[in-house]
Amino acid sequence: MNKSNFWQQLFQKLSIKSTGDIMCVADPYTRTKERIDQHFRRLKRNLQIGMVIAYLIPLGLLSVYFHFQFHLSLKESGKVNLTTIAESQQKTIDLFLQERVVNIFNLFHYSQFKLSPSADDMRLYLENLRQMSDAYVDVGFLNSEGIQIGYSGPHYYLLGKDYSREGWFETLMHKGQNYHISDIYLGFRQKPHFTISVKQLFGQKFYIMRATLDPDMFYSFLRTIRRSKEVNTAVINREGKYQLVSSLQGKVLEDSFDHIPLSPTSAAYETSKNHVTSLVAYSWLQEVPWVLVVKQPLNIAYAEMYRARRILIQAIIIVILLIFLIIWLTTEKLMRRAQRTEEERGELQSQLIHAGKLISVGELAAGIAHEINNPLQIISAESGVIKDMLDPEFKLDHSPDKILSEIEVIDDAVFRARDITQKLLRFSRRSEPHLHPADINRILAQVVDGFVEKELQVSNIELIRDFEDDLPPVFVDLDQIRQVFLNMINNATDAIQGAGEITLGTRRHNNSVRVSISDTGKGMTKDQMERVFLPFFTTKEEGKGTGLGLSISLSIIEAMGGHIEVQSMLNAGSSFTVILPIPKAEENTND
Ligand code: ADP
Repeated sequence: MNKSNFWQQLFQKLSIKSTGDIMCVADPYTRTKERIDQHFRRLKRNLQIGMVIAYLIPLGLLSVYFHFQFHLSLKESGKVNLTTIAESQQKTIDLFLQERVVNIFNLFHYSQFKLSPSADDMRLYLENLRQMSDAYVDVGFLNSEGIQIGYSGPHYYLLGKDYSREGWFETLMHKGQNYHISDIYLGFRQKPHFTISVKQLFGQKFYIMRATLDPDMFYSFLRTIRRSKEVNTAVINREGKYQLVSSLQGKVLEDSFDHIPLSPTSAAYETSKNHVTSLVAYSWLQEVPWVLVVKQPLNIAYAEMYRARRILIQAIIIVILLIFLIIWLTTEKLMRRAQRTEEERGELQSQLIHAGKLISVGELAAGIAHEINNPLQIISAESGVIKDMLDPEFKLDHSPDKILSEIEVIDDAVFRARDITQKLLRFSRRSEPHLHPADINRILAQVVDGFVEKELQVSNIELIRDFEDDLPPVFVDLDQIRQVFLNMINNATDAIQGAGEITLGTRRHNNSVRVSISDTGKGMTKDQMERVFLPFFTTKEEGKGTGLGLSISLSIIEAMGGHIEVQSMLNAGSSFTVILPIPKAEENTND
């Protein structure tokens, strides 16, 4: 190898080995830091979204399910509660009516009882009844023909009235019933009232004691047994007419428009009237065909449920906020730690590269010393020769031509030294990478055409170009990418013992351009393959390799947004693939 070739190679090699130069490394490192930041931001966002989905979807589903179940059971308990109120009021009314029947029936067994009672007797009967309840208005006594033969009360004209054609009279006489409680009606007196009639057999004939009750008094009694203020109670007969009702709700004998089913005998349901939804519970009375109906506005009937729902929603919101906080804190902490580790790793790598630079500088210095020493020796020798020529003692030919030819040798040596220093200067001036769009096929061709190809021929290595045409341009720093390729070609050359092949391939794959440098060399073990990118890993003999080429190449390619893949088989060969992204604007071209 001639000297200029040596230098060309040394510089090319040093360009790669010493990419650890502070200027060159600092910038990729800054870029790498930016990328690390970006990468961790993306990772954190994905992690947070993933965790939020993982925690909140099951929580949401569970909440909806429990809310639904809870809602149903509280609604049911609201209905049961109101039905219980209706049933209890119905029983109390039934009991009230039974008591009234017993009161009237007892008159037949009263010591003063007479089959032809006088007005005084009747007054006594009424007083007797009023002691039991002040709902009694009057009392009458009817013979078996339906004629009222005794009466005490405000409507004295009812004395002597014939009730034989009244429905209740016929029911009592012919249907084997012992008593009859009428619906509330207006009757002869044109005032709402209802009557309780009780029959009793004396001799062969039935007599009837009949008392009238004031529904208002009855209703006041009903109000006293009401359990809750918000409950509206009414009693309705089978035809849907109010029997007892508050003045706010309606009027006695008015149509209630409530269609209460006969079966089941008590239940609850929701109903809407004038845009107000209420919960209605009913219970049919046993003594009369009346139904007791209680109504409650829905917001009161389900107050418990609404309260529980509010608490549940508040609890869920708190839990969700807590989950968000925990996710945020955990991912923040996790990512900060991971990022610090990554940064420390990056710093370590940069320190290693820096150390590599020092080693390379050492190598370079030794090479420079050696190479500059040669021209200096030549210059020194030649100047000695000229001095000897001019010394008369030696009687040497010192014609101007002779001296000029010696000076030319000195000039050559000076030029060589200057060439070295110029290359050194160019090398030291290398600065941050400048990314330009470039045709990767052209760069590869420039790297191998000429010297490298000739060197390979000398070493019996065939170079195969397998380039894909019309590749889109990629953004690269020309000097740096050349160094990467040259380093890989040098490694491939070193790996081939004797004859072999190096194939340079370029391909477009999805949104990247792939450059592969494959050889038929000695290949690598799995262990070596895993370590090739570690700084200072080398299998080359001492003085030949520093183990920094691939680690620096990787930093360079990563700084360009790409990466490197490696495949190898022991004793068969290796393939290094540089993958570079196609800029967005170029992605759609040549597709
Ligand atoms: P160096 O060339 O100074 O050893 P590199 O980082 O370029 O440093 O390479 C590291 C090591 O990777 C080499 O010493 C060698 O063991 C292995 N290597 C790299 N390229 C090849 C290849 N094409 N075939 C086999 N081994 C290789």
